[in-house]
Amino acid sequence: MANNTTTSIKANFSDFGLHPTILKAVSEAGYSSPTPIQALALPNIMDGHDVMGAAQTGTGKTAAFTLPLLHRLLPMANTSASPARHPVRALILTPTRELADQVAENAIMYSKYTNLRCAVVFGGVDINPQREALQRGCEVLIATPGRLLDHIEQRNVNLSQVGILVLDEADRMLDMGFLPDLERIVSLLPKQRQGLLFSATFSKEIRRLGLNFLNNPKEIKVAQSNTTADTITQIAYSLSGKQKRAAVAHIIKSRKLNQVIVFSNTRIGASRLARELLNDGIKADAIHGDKSQAERTKTLDSFKAGDLEALVATDVAARGLDVAGVPCVINYDLPFNAEDYVHRIGRTGRAGSSGQAISFYTPDDERLLSDIEKLIKTPIEKARLSLPSGKGRARKEPQDELFYKPYVPSESFDQSKQPSRQSGRLGDNKKSVGILLGGK
Ligand code: AMP
Repeated sequence: MANNTTTSIKANFSDFGLHPTILKAVSEAGYSSPTPIQALALPNIMDGHDVMGAAQTGTGKTAAFTLPLLHRLLPMANTSASPARHPVRALILTPTRELADQVAENAIMYSKYTNLRCAVVFGGVDINPQREALQRGCEVLIATPGRLLDHIEQRNVNLSQVGILVLDEADRMLDMGFLPDLERIVSLLPKQRQGLLFSATFSKEIRRLGLNFLNNPKEIKVAQSNTTADTITQIAYSLSGKQKRAAVAHIIKSRKLNQVIVFSNTRIGASRLARELLNDGIKADAIHGDKSQAERTKTLDSFKAGDLEALVATDVAARGLDVAGVPCVINYDLPFNAEDYVHRIGRTGRAGSSGQAISFYTPDDERLLSDIEKLIKTPIEKARLSLPSGKGRARKEPQDELFYKPYVPSESFDQSKQPSRQSGRLGDNKKSVGILLGGK
């Protein structure tokens, strides 16, 4: 694997030599200067290198790969109406529907002054409009792995001209069991391509994935892996389980927070907390894997529009959500997996703005909290939260044992339900860089 890059940091987007049509869209997005990951990734990707980027969410990593990717595709942009003139040339894989949708929104925004076409496919929604979009042709395809395989099986899409592959939030794709799907998809791509992999954290498994799917990648890092942005203040309140609901309501009301993401470990817990917060007079709704895609999109849109004060979410549903300026994230339950803490609190303190991450812990959670501190290599300030009297009284706990079951993803990554997808094997994926695209 190549050494970390030493590219000098450029202060303006115009310093990179990005095509003027892309610069115009960037300027309209209101970005005055590149974020650190962008400053490192842009020149390397524009030069055709494979890249492994360690960047936590909120660092501007979507633009870090989308802008140079569009720039490299521009020579192939054309105004022909023929679908054959618009083959898929860049494939961006993401772990969740929401992230796919957000990356697509970004790609569409940055490419709006070009003749490149972007399309997005993900599960949980009608496949037919997606089939039509694929049949019309698109140079940039953003997809979740399961739904992409559905389209491949239905022969709606041909990946034989893909010159750039992006694996976004690759760590989460592995966590969600997508490796066999990824291997199957990658086996269908040309061996000569540029490969880009982004992950909040660099584990051994991610490095192995990089070795298999990328060709001598440049490793770029903007923060130590498994660290949290220093724009986020972190605090943990010691509470009993029965005080937690009152504590969320108290924090939201007393601090006049108008946009908070609250994390629950279970789907049922998320729905229940959202209902309870509503009863407490807080505009709240839940987003989790038991909700239909239409419900999830509607809830997310309300939250983004400022119509909801609290979005109660499970990890998978919230993964990659980019809601500008969320001032506060509350871990109602501490995550079982310490890396999820990094992802969760990455919802706040995005792109340089400040944010607050509040966690609740009970005496039973102390080990989880110390696992998190070990991972992020920083002690989290512990404090007591004084609740108004009468708050947090004992209440009858539900007897349904399902309520206590930890959240288990159930989307298309349930491998046992997808035997046909297990058969794909990664062949020889070593490749030379960007030949298709005329890179070095
Ligand atoms: P991401 O890490 O890609 O999810 O991006 C987080 C947020 O930062 C998004 O809302 C982007 O629109 C925003 N963003 C990306 N690049 C920049 C930039 N150079 N300056 C300011 N904001 C940015």
